[in-house]
Amino acid sequence: MSDVPFQPIALRLTRSVVINGLLAALLLCGLVGWWERHTALDRLEAALRVQGEELAHALPEAVWQVSPDLVQPQLEAASKRVGVAYLAVLEPGGSRPIAEVGQQQLRGLSADIDLPLLREGREIGRLAMMLDRAAIQRSVYEAMLKSMLASLALIVVMVGLVLLLLRRHLQQPMQALAAALRRLEAEDLGAHLDLHRPPRRTRDEIDEVAAALSGLQQRVLRHVDELDARVAERTEQLQRALEQLKILAVTDPLTGCHNRLAFSQKFPEAVAHAQRYERPLAVVFFDVDRFKVINDTHGHPIGDRVLADAGQLLRETLRSSSDWVARYGGEEFVLVLPEASLQQAVDAAERLRQMVEQDIRVPLDGGGSLQITASFGVAQWQRGETGEQLLERADAQLYAAKHAGRNRVMPAVAVIA
Ligand code: GH3
Ligand code: MG
Ligand code: MG
Repeated sequence: MSDVPFQPIALRLTRSVVINGLLAALLLCGLVGWWERHTALDRLEAALRVQGEELAHALPEAVWQVSPDLVQPQLEAASKRVGVAYLAVLEPGGSRPIAEVGQQQLRGLSADIDLPLLREGREIGRLAMMLDRAAIQRSVYEAMLKSMLASLALIVVMVGLVLLLLRRHLQQPMQALAAALRRLEAEDLGAHLDLHRPPRRTRDEIDEVAAALSGLQQRVLRHVDELDARVAERTEQLQRALEQLKILAVTDPLTGCHNRLAFSQKFPEAVAHAQRYERPLAVVFFDVDRFKVINDTHGHPIGDRVLADAGQLLRETLRSSSDWVARYGGEEFVLVLPEASLQQAVDAAERLRQMVEQDIRVPLDGGGSLQITASFGVAQWQRGETGEQLLERADAQLYAAKHAGRNRVMPAVAVIA
């Protein structure tokens, strides 16, 4: 729409008023001409007949005396009247003129006004008058010209009035409205639409448009507020879901401990930290004893319950906030204890071993409960050792604990490089 050229309403209306006014003026002019042509002849004829009758009354004496000096001036005076083309006094009954004035080429044609000149009841001549048809045409043109000029003056006045009213009541408020709408910004949709109109007792279409736009503004604002609130709510939900997903991605669903993925991310960091700051680091492998038998005897659900209880116990009894536990695979867990010496790790493992033995009681369907034990392999990080080497040493100690009869803690003896 914006690439269509701009054309003010005032210009369109003015053009329309001018064109239609001119057409109406032409029509009026034609009507006036037609009317004038019909009435002017009658008017002129009636006026000249009165004059003719006066002449017919005055002339007989001069005609009787056969005094052209008296007849001619009277005819000349009468011919000066507008609308007389030819005036003659004719012999009685004949067509030969005694005296004549005006356009002599009209002589002999049948007269428009033909009056007898009577003296003592006897015709002593005839008065012939011919109307000036060119004068009638002129009066028609004059009437048409007057009507045209009057119409043109009216058109000019009308256009002036239309322009004035349009400017005041339409153009200025519409331009103010357009400017106010152009000023509306996304950040300030509530800006007041001020059209700078003087106070009035009535409302018009522009007030209606402005009111409708204000209503639209309010609705858009409400909608934007609702959208903002909805976006904020959804963002919060997404944030929570994301946090949840992050936790789920690194958490083993059965035991609530870190999963293998989390372990593979966190463990190298713990080793790197110990290496960089030469701080102690211990790992403890934990494996449920004869778990296969538990599964085989009591079924998988009971086995799962044992793992869940073991995982919970491990998580809850970790000493410091820097200690953490991951499910390493199957029924095997690994505890990572930064800042713990070998002895501290052994003590922790021993404490856990006792708790597993004493506290974990998985209720069985047929009554009674299942008691379990676990074996522990402990190793402490040594300078220059990789994470894998440390894990291998701890795993070897777990294997040794199993071999030695299970339900025990087996610490790795330090290897001096
Ligand atoms: P040991 O005392 O030598 O550790 O004997 P074990 O039976 O515990 O050792 P083994 O590694 O032979 O058996 C582990 C079993 O754990 C095998 C597998 O069926 C079971 N297992 C591994 N993951 C799960 C699990 O998520 N749920 C259950 N119920 N069982 C599992
Ligand atoms: Mg086992
Ligand atoms: Mg095992």
